[in-house]
This record gives sequence, structure tokens and C-alpha cells, in this order.
Amino acid sequence: MKPFNTYLRILGRQYSIDFTDADYLMDIDGKSAAGICNHWEQRITLARRHPDKVKAHLVHEIFEAIAEVLPIGLSESQIEMLEAGWFQFLKENNIYLLWEAIDAAYEEGCQNSSRNEERIRREER
Ligand SMILES: [Zn+2]
Repeated sequence: MKPFNTYLRILGRQYSIDFTDADYLMDIDGKSAAGICNHWEQRITLARRHPDKVKAHLVHEIFEAIAEVLPIGLSESQIEMLEAGWFQFLKENNIYLLWEAIDAAYEEGCQNSSRNEERIRREER
């Protein structure tokens, strides 16, 4: 994968997301890792892997960032389970299509209810 970087907003904080050419990264404990979330620098770094692995690692590091901000006390194995569940969910569903459908249905509902209110007002006269 060609290295590149971008940004994501996570709970109001801007994290830089670096997709590197490195095979392994070193975490603060000196252990090798395929993904690292540096809370101090608000930076997520991801090593080169198969695209599905990179995406799963990205999901994992996003949960690491969320768990850092919110006092939910997630363990590494809980984050791994959330990673597995969310990666699969995101891979198999287009949540944004559903969100757009929900927004469209809501907008249509608002238009219908304001049309109904208008009709009721006209009938009351
Ligand atoms: Zn982790």
C-alpha cells in the first residue's frame, strides 16, 4: 500500500492517521505492533498489511482512542472483540446508505407533518 496520511475526528479530537510502509511498528513498551494509537500526539499509525487487516487495525486503534477519552475501562481483549465485531459489521454493511435513508424518511415525515398541520389550519378557518 502506498503510504499516506489523513485525519479523523474522534470524540472531538483530531487524530492524524498515518498509513506507513513499515512491516512492524514499536509501541511504547517496546513491543512490535501492526497499529499504534499515540494519545499524546493524537496519532494513529498503521503498518503495511493486507487492506482488510489495515482496516481492522484502524478500527482497533479508534477504539483505543475512544477508550482513552471515555472512562470505560476497556481491556485489550475487549477492544479486540469490539474490533472483530465492528470490522465485520462495517465490511458487510453500508451504514451510510441506511443513515441517508433514515434522514430522508425523517425529512419526508417532517414535510408530511407540516403539510398536515397546514391542512388542519386551513380546515379550522
Ligand atoms: Zn490495542
